[in-house]
Amino acid sequence: MQTIGLLGGTFNPIHFGHLRMAQELAESLNLDEVRFIPSANPPHKHAPLVSAEQRATMVRLAIADNPLFKFDERELNRKGASFTIDTLVSLRDELGEKTSLVLIMGSDAFVKFDTWHRWQEIIKLCHIALVQRPDKKPTEALSKTLALFLEQHYTEQVDDLHTAAVGSVTMQAITPLEISSTAIRRTLQHQGSARYLVPQNVLDFIASNHLYST
Ligand code: ATP
Repeated sequence: MQTIGLLGGTFNPIHFGHLRMAQELAESLNLDEVRFIPSANPPHKHAPLVSAEQRATMVRLAIADNPLFKFDERELNRKGASFTIDTLVSLRDELGEKTSLVLIMGSDAFVKFDTWHRWQEIIKLCHIALVQRPDKKPTEALSKTLALFLEQHYTEQVDDLHTAAVGSVTMQAITPLEISSTAIRRTLQHQGSARYLVPQNVLDFIASNHLYST
């Protein structure tokens, strides 16, 4: 069964933490591709100063040389808030039921998963791969509801992501890279360098468009 990883995010800007995480998951979970899905209007974050088109361009530049990575613009084309459930429904409409989808999520995001729009329907449309971010709280802070959800769906068998199209939650260790878009924006605001945190072609785009410097 074809197995596709889904990495949504603000990507404001995209950095090597995102790229390395996607690469490692593609390998450890045997993914056929990872789709980068920039959010147009993230419901959980304040509106970013950089436009959705500029964030999307940076994602395109960052993934251009990796055949495993694909750009997915469906959230940019949708009006209103970007809800994951709508993205998954739209992907299912396009790909049918026989493609396995793996929603990649930082464990920091999973702690609030039960506040997401129609969250209980999400696992009926995809699997979930949780990754531990080095700079964020571990999953011990889970609510009872989420702990139960994890117990019901948890698997350590990568095969489960390939034999069924939906329904499992796995947890993956990745090389911890303590990089965040927030820290990068702060560095650039103070005229610091983000070299080796962000791909060079993305840094060139940031410089030529004067992003994050004021
Ligand atoms: P911000 O600092 O603006 O909140 P961010 O660096 O967390 O941004 P997002 O675009 O919100 O970036 O992240 C998209 C996804 O990538 C999320 O699931 C997030 O948990 C994950 N992620 C971001 N940075 C890392 C990292 N350094 N290592 C592993 N996962 C990461």
